[in-house]
Amino acid sequence: MNNLIDGKAIAEQIRQTIAADVSALKAQGTTPGLAVVLVGEDPASRVYVSMKEKACAQAGIFSDEHKLSESTSEAELLQLIDQLNQDSRIDGILVQLPLPKQIDESKVLEAISPKKDVDGFHPYNVGRLATGNPLFRPCTPYGVMKMLEHTGVDLKGKEVVVVGRSNIVGKPVALMCLAEHATVTICHSRTQDLPGHVARGDVVIAAVGQPEMIKGDWIKPGAVVIDVGVNRVGEKKLVGDVEFAAAKERAGAITPVPGGVGPMTITMLLYNTVESAKRRVAGK
Ligand code: NDP
Repeated sequence: MNNLIDGKAIAEQIRQTIAADVSALKAQGTTPGLAVVLVGEDPASRVYVSMKEKACAQAGIFSDEHKLSESTSEAELLQLIDQLNQDSRIDGILVQLPLPKQIDESKVLEAISPKKDVDGFHPYNVGRLATGNPLFRPCTPYGVMKMLEHTGVDLKGKEVVVVGRSNIVGKPVALMCLAEHATVTICHSRTQDLPGHVARGDVVIAAVGQPEMIKGDWIKPGAVVIDVGVNRVGEKKLVGDVEFAAAKERAGAITPVPGGVGPMTITMLLYNTVESAKRRVAGK
């Protein structure tokens, strides 16, 4: 049964429209610019940052890289952000998390101009999303919404069960589903009868970070399953938060891991950057 939601293919389609938008902006004399700030040597962060730089280059977006040492002070980082806030070539500022211990993450995120906050983590943007008037939406949950849209899922009146309540995935994706008129349940580590909640979901969105903890036989037959989880098991294997093989037998549609939500995240970062550049051109 081919019920796989192909994140790579959807991401590629969106990247083509992004590339066309970038060409149109360039024809008007504007190149969208993304500043990527990496502090320290975290190997996973380095990989993410180089993937983001590569994706920018492919899309024709100017990427302004700032690689700072592990010992960078909070004041130095805040000064750089201030400079980027004022730099008219820059439409988006991304500070790769986590930051070294001496730096207060929330202070840094709040220093980014909300108009350049392409990650959507600034409290201003969180508030705009919560009040139903979003400016920037965080990339991973926005990617989930785009996947549902491309799969033809109409959320109106549907039961959506989100497992996970983090600020970067669970909470924002729940707000986005609510905005699409779904009836949303948010589950977390203290939820009682998780299988019972999941079984009610017409759409299940898993963002837990526990390998295959959502069992296939919890899934309502025909439900759409979006697995945000990325868990390394053993040396090389990656699995999601959903017991994929069993869930695939019951689901109407399901995302694989890898090749599901993963490719959407960077795509939506590019998307947000281009939207920001369009706003700059429009003088908004
Ligand atoms: P967090 O660790 O911040 O949040 C995990 C959430 O899951 C918490 O709300 C926690 O509950 C809940 N949880 C943990 N254990 C259980 C349990 N046994 N039953 C029910 N709920 C539970 O993770 P993130 O949201 O940052 O990420 C989630 C997953 O998504 C990870 O695997 C991460 O790697 C992946 N991810 C993938 C991205 C991509 O681009 N594909 C991007 C971002 C994340 P509580 O709040 O009570 O602690």
